[in-house]
Amino acid sequence: MLARPIFIANWKMNMLSRDAAQYVLELRRLYKAADSGLDDTVLAPPFTILSAMREQIGGLPGVLLAAQNVHWDDVGPHTGEISAPMLREFGVSFAIVGHSERRQFYGENDTYVAKRALNALKHGIRPVICVGENLADFEAGKTNEVLKRQLEAGLENISAEQMKQVILAYEPVWAIGTGRAATAQSIESANHFLLDLIKSHFKSAVENTRILYGGSTSPENIAEIIKVDGVGGALVGGASLSPTNFWNLIERGRAAVV
Ligand code: PEP
Repeated sequence: MLARPIFIANWKMNMLSRDAAQYVLELRRLYKAADSGLDDTVLAPPFTILSAMREQIGGLPGVLLAAQNVHWDDVGPHTGEISAPMLREFGVSFAIVGHSERRQFYGENDTYVAKRALNALKHGIRPVICVGENLADFEAGKTNEVLKRQLEAGLENISAEQMKQVILAYEPVWAIGTGRAATAQSIESANHFLLDLIKSHFKSAVENTRILYGGSTSPENIAEIIKVDGVGGALVGGASLSPTNFWNLIERGRAAVV
C-alpha cells in the first residue's frame, strides 16, 4: 500500500456551475471542521466548469483537478474533443482515459486510450488509465485476459520514466454504478496481475505504480477496499456527487490506512 491514498471524484455529466460552487463551499466547511488537509483529493468535473472550479478550489490546499478525457493530438480537426494543452490552461493535473463508459458507448478502444494517455504525459498531465472486465468476462473467468489486452495496449510507447506518472484504475464494469463492489479478493487478484504485467514491461517503475479501485465505492465499504493489497486510492462516481458522502469516504478511507 502506498503511503497516502488518492481519491478522485468522477462527476461524469453532472453539475452545473452553481451546483459545483455549492459543492466546493460545503467541502470547504467540512475541511475546516475536520482541520485536516485534503491532499491528494482530485475533482473531475465536466469540461464546461473547469474554469469556475479552478477559481473555487483556490484556498483548498491539496485539491487538484482532473479531466474526464483528453485527446491524442494537440490541435486540429477534432470536433467535440479537448486537448492536453487546453486542459493545462485550466490547471488540470490528471486525465481519466479509457473509462468503461467511453469504451462501451463511444467506441473508445485500447489503441486510442494509449494515444490519449501518451499525449497527456507529454504535457505533464497524469493519465488515469481505466481497465476492467465486463460481467460476461468476469463470469467466464477471463478477467486477466481482458486486463492484459487493455493494459498492454495502454502501455504501448510509454517509457519506464513516464510510467512513474501513470495511474491505473481497476474498474470492473459490472461494479460501476451497480451498488455491487468487487470483493477484496478479486480486487487483490486483479492488482497483483496488473503489477506483475507492469513489472515484466518496466522493471524500475513498478513500485511507483498506483492502482485505484473504482466501482460502487461508498463511505460504508471504503475502509475494507482501501486496505486491499495494491489499492492506492479510489476512483469514485456516484458517491462523489454529494460533498458529504465524498468527504466521509475520504476520511474513512484515510483512517483505515493510517
Ligand atoms: C466510475 O464511473 O468510475 C465509478 C467508479 O462509478 P461508481 O462509483 O458510481 O460505481
